[in-house]
Amino acid sequence: MSVVSDIVARVRSMPSGQAGPGNPTPRPVLVFDLDGTLFDNGPRTWRILVDFAERHGHHALRSALDTAPRQRLPYMLTETLARLSVTDAAVVESAAAYWKSRFFSDDDQQHDVPIQGALALAQCCYDAGATVVYLSGRDVPNMLIGVCQSLRAHGFPVGLARTAVVLKPNFHDDDLAFKKSAFDFIDTLGTVVGTFDNEPANSNAFQERWPTAVHVFVNTQHAPNPPPLHPAIVAVDDLT
Ligand SMILES: [Mg+2]
Repeated sequence: MSVVSDIVARVRSMPSGQAGPGNPTPRPVLVFDLDGTLFDNGPRTWRILVDFAERHGHHALRSALDTAPRQRLPYMLTETLARLSVTDAAVVESAAAYWKSRFFSDDDQQHDVPIQGALALAQCCYDAGATVVYLSGRDVPNMLIGVCQSLRAHGFPVGLARTAVVLKPNFHDDDLAFKKSAFDFIDTLGTVVGTFDNEPANSNAFQERWPTAVHVFVNTQHAPNPPPLHPAIVAVDDLT
């Protein structure tokens, strides 16, 4: 049985429906990260770099992008640019500034594509009675509308009972500290049975908080110099 199947089975084995009078048993809760976990944001970066190249007349870069991978890009933009033979410091700096001005915004999230198996997993667990929490380092002021649009456009459960979108209050908030700050709220929703994240530090924090749940590390991309992954955490390449 795959770890994904195991989590779905756990959800189905627990009471579902709304907690409350007549149904006091906490229902299952799943926690999903977005970038690098449910969504591949590589196409977002690819689209932004295309626009940068066209607006600034970087013809070689624009041409290189036509045949470059659009998914599963490196975590660091500088590495993506290096693969496209962009190493001039001034161009890298200009591209990075342009990329930053668009990557962390509502509109360009439309280019993200779900990780393989992500939609079926979220739908299946929701339909089985789980509460689905999207816990992401994207921030409310710049990205909330795009988050909801993207989730809705791809068919993820969102805006419904037994769903929650939990984002950072501010762009500059630390991702890990923010996620930890949401733990108490998540515990009010039910019993966490599974978490999914592409950052080892986040998965380790989930493991520490909810040691009896299944924690899945999605091995897509992550920040440099990650801590060792807790041995109980399951690593997967996608969500099939
Ligand atoms: Mg992530």
